[in-house]
Amino acid sequence: MKTDPACEPCHIKYTGPKLYAAETHAHTRETGPCGRVPAEHLVREYIKMGYRYLFITDHMHENNLEKRELKKAPWEKRVDEYLKGYRTAKKAAQGTDLIVMLAMEVTLKGKSPIDFLVYGANEAFLYSHPFFYDTGYEAFYKLVRENGFLSFQAHPYRYEGAPIEPVCYDGIEIFNAHPRHLSRNRNAVAFALEKGLFTISGSDVHAEEDIARGGVMLPGGIESGADFVRYIKENGSPELIITFQ
Ligand SMILES: [Zn+2]
Ligand SMILES: [Zn+2]
Repeated sequence: MKTDPACEPCHIKYTGPKLYAAETHAHTRETGPCGRVPAEHLVREYIKMGYRYLFITDHMHENNLEKRELKKAPWEKRVDEYLKGYRTAKKAAQGTDLIVMLAMEVTLKGKSPIDFLVYGANEAFLYSHPFFYDTGYEAFYKLVRENGFLSFQAHPYRYEGAPIEPVCYDGIEIFNAHPRHLSRNRNAVAFALEKGLFTISGSDVHAEEDIARGGVMLPGGIESGADFVRYIKENGSPELIITFQ
């Protein structure tokens, strides 16, 4: 059969891996006062929406780790509290096709509202690094690099914000789907291109209506934050899921 030359690209066989939807940015009600969606509900909804992967990125923030109820508590107990949302989601996803993974949205002490999405850290890292968020940008990025993690400045242009300079992170969240904040995502695209940064998209789920409005596409076989980091380091930025605003 003859094909129109203009159509030829359509006939080139795609030889890459099959890709699946991944949520990179979601908060649970169990871990912080701002998350309003229970972890089990998040899991059910992401399965319904056809996602394969769900990163729980609860706030590693002094307001959570140093809240009044934890006054004088050992660091281990604080991490136990922090991991509640992730662990509940992980358990709820058992026996399903959804893979729940641990990540975090880190706010350095006293630097709110500047947030970093960090991928690659596991539970052992959290337990063995008390108050690691109580540091400066450069020291934090050194910790990220030494441990082989990746950090992305979250929603860098939200309201009057701008990305931290000099750049002390691997990438930025160029699309943050949070519908109740002014994230000015378009500016983030230009900045990422100019600086050659990795780019991700995320829903930043806090409420029911935020679910599955962003994310990235990943191949099968990703089982942890470390796998996600390896994939990005080897392949560059993932394909993004965006809902234009
Ligand atoms: Zn929040
Ligand atoms: Zn967030």
